[in-house]
Amino acid sequence: MRARRREDTPDIRVVHDPERNASLYVTGELPHRLVRWFERHLLECEDCWQEVWLARRGRLIAEHARELPPARLRDAVRGAVQLEASSAPTSERRAWFRRRPT
Ligand SMILES: [Zn+2]
Repeated sequence: MRARRREDTPDIRVVHDPERNASLYVTGELPHRLVRWFERHLLECEDCWQEVWLARRGRLIAEHARELPPARLRDAVRGAVQLEASSAPTSERRAWFRRRPT
């Protein structure tokens, strides 16, 4: 993984880019002070919540994959994960945060 220079990264509190912010969070590239801010934000923001969910699922799938699956399969998996993420009520999200590995 290529190292990202911190000064190249816009402040996630100012620039709302759910995909980028979730990626920084899941890969551990956010500064510690922003991790706590982002976790509070996740409880209220549907877009960021879904992107973190997708990024974590994507990493899990990638870790188990030996070959890149066909594009149609990737789209089907992404769609299924999005559907699951969007149907999780807020109470389940909070429970997920409490039990997630750190
Ligand atoms: Zn957000």
